[in-house]
Amino acid sequence: MKKLTTLLCAVALAVSAPVFAKTVKIGMAIDDLRLERWQKDRDFFVEKAESLGAKVFVQSSNSNETAQISQIENMISRGVDVLVIIPYNGKVLSNVIAEAKSEGIQVLAYDRLINNADIDFYLSFDNEKVGELQAEALIKHKADGNFFLMGGSPVDNNAKLFRQGQMNVLQPLIDKGDIKVVGDQWVDGWLAENALKIMENALTANDNNIDVVVASNDSTAGGAIQALDAQGLAGKVYISGQDADLAASRRVVAGTQTMTIYKPIKLLATTAAELAVQMGNGQMPEANSSLNNGTKDVPSFLLTPIPVDKSNIDQTVIADGFHTKADVYQ
Ligand code: BGC
Repeated sequence: MKKLTTLLCAVALAVSAPVFAKTVKIGMAIDDLRLERWQKDRDFFVEKAESLGAKVFVQSSNSNETAQISQIENMISRGVDVLVIIPYNGKVLSNVIAEAKSEGIQVLAYDRLINNADIDFYLSFDNEKVGELQAEALIKHKADGNFFLMGGSPVDNNAKLFRQGQMNVLQPLIDKGDIKVVGDQWVDGWLAENALKIMENALTANDNNIDVVVASNDSTAGGAIQALDAQGLAGKVYISGQDADLAASRRVVAGTQTMTIYKPIKLLATTAAELAVQMGNGQMPEANSSLNNGTKDVPSFLLTPIPVDKSNIDQTVIADGFHTKADVYQ
């Protein structure tokens, strides 16, 4: 009898075991899928998370903070275990995150920090370093003259870190009087069309006397270069970028954009998927850094950005398979 009971128990366990195997449910709230880079982030993230047995719900707010908050609320009510958030506005999510935490949900800030909120982990690139690399690449070409500063979205914490990094390099030259800052604007939503208008106005206000544009990413650089091109200045004005978007990579080899920053998105996204699944199973990921978000020192993991220009695009962006040689050189 004892034997039979043991056998029945074993059978019952074997049959019910899959019920206990946890499928981690992840809600991925993306700022804006209209920008090329975030589509890559989503694709790599979802593929990796699903290969680890997780289920992922993705939503994009298209740069709308109210939409993003209600998308996150919706994910909470769907019973996700982990929220992976790329915030549009890092400063307005405190309440919805408090709600998530009270439901026992783990929160991972992806690429952009979320301010004033009890988040569990932050995964990104070293964003201050990104800004330093942009400015260093520009001053290799021109370390004096009229500089126009084009910041990113004013509600993105990264945009401030990029600017901080840029100023670490530029400020001494500004103080010396070598560099004159002829304008300083921030581009709402990081959108090319807004950057285009800003650049048109800046050129008009300065009678086209601009030597360098410190643009913080490729979408804004693209808009600015369109305005420069209309004045016959594309390729004559040095301009930075970031993301190694396909269009930007083409501009780099064509000589109309001085540089971009390559951030291996696959590494970021697959690492995030691993961390999210770990967190969903109650484990705390390993950090290599920590950033204060106004509420706490958030354990963080920061990856290394790579500056790219004509001279090393083949060895970086193309060698890595981020874009094909044929696509970049057309
Ligand atoms: C990201 C950049 C991106 C920008 C616009 C930033 O937070 O770090 O890679 O270009 O947002 O989406």
